[in-house]
Amino acid sequence: MKLQTESLKKEMIAWRHEFHKYPELGFQEVRTSKLIAELLRSFGLKVYEKFGKTGVVGHLERNKAKKLIAIRADIDALPIEEKTSLSYQSQRNGTMHACGHDGHTATLLGAAKYLSQDKSFDGNILFIFQPDEENGGGAKAMIEDNLFKKFSVSEVYALHNMPGMPVGYFATRENTITASENSFEIEVISKGGHSALPNMGGDAIQIASQIVNSLQTIVSRKIDPRKKAVLSITEFITNGKKNILASKVVLKGDTRCLDDDTKAIIESELRRICQSITAASDASCVVKFETNVPITYNSKAPTQNLTKCVIDTFGKKNIESNCAPMLFSEDFSFLASQVPGCFVLIGNGSNGPNAEPLHSPKFDFNDEILTLGSCLWVNLAKMISKH
Ligand SMILES: [Zn+2]
Ligand SMILES: [Zn+2]
Repeated sequence: MKLQTESLKKEMIAWRHEFHKYPELGFQEVRTSKLIAELLRSFGLKVYEKFGKTGVVGHLERNKAKKLIAIRADIDALPIEEKTSLSYQSQRNGTMHACGHDGHTATLLGAAKYLSQDKSFDGNILFIFQPDEENGGGAKAMIEDNLFKKFSVSEVYALHNMPGMPVGYFATRENTITASENSFEIEVISKGGHSALPNMGGDAIQIASQIVNSLQTIVSRKIDPRKKAVLSITEFITNGKKNILASKVVLKGDTRCLDDDTKAIIESELRRICQSITAASDASCVVKFETNVPITYNSKAPTQNLTKCVIDTFGKKNIESNCAPMLFSEDFSFLASQVPGCFVLIGNGSNGPNAEPLHSPKFDFNDEILTLGSCLWVNLAKMISKH
């Protein structure tokens, strides 16, 4: 198939800019969802709204005898004040499409429009527009709304733009592709007291500081150096005042890794360090550790399908088919844990706002890759429908 027509490209750009101008946070994507549903309906698809709270699903069914594949785009934005000077910059204070979900959504809409107008297509596609990816709640909400009970999907796919990676380039891998995200909260409880009389009290800040330092030895001393993991403490909250020793400190942070064995080591070491340090300091602690998003596992068959489709469409030199796994997390993992799936990265370009890191106030999705992404989805749908 040729790349998309110029008029569809212009439409995708217009949709993307509209989403970009009016970004909405997770589970608040009311305007976004309404526009998606209107477009899907105008393409002639069967549309399901309020799926997983603010999600939308479009169903294209041409041949019941063939399998149904699902392609997912995330639709939510981030609580970031945009610092670009784009003509279509965010009109909403403190909210921004800084992860390119505006682009993922427009890409999938483009594929939905193309396939619904293509009379020769005789497969079945579920277009999933998923809310609240950033907080890891959207995919779960759609599954709880019986996404995979209502539709018997055999494979699920998703893409994410990758700043700094060249336009026209893709990367994926079999097995783990993105990390699990686990958050922890440690409450350190001591006696507190007068700042001039530490001998009579207890200083939770001093104890928590030891914990902060010691937690940094988990990745460097307890994890096999051949494996990847990261642990960051991101909040240190105390109830101390100028002349009052803190009796309570709350430490918060998160840790990411690429397999469940590593996660188990991190959790048990974190608990052991907190218990040991507080016990040795005549204090106590309460530790909470939870997995917000599991690892994304790319199954063999969908990954092979997607890799073949990229090679057939864009050429062998344009895909890294065994890329290094990423240490960010992605709640597509929930979908891919229910149905065999594949997550692929698409180059967002190496210059200007397209190369700014994801979640940067200066980031922008690259309009030039809208056609590449939708072309990938169209060709993948056609390829699988021939099976
Ligand atoms: Zn993000
Ligand atoms: Zn994202």
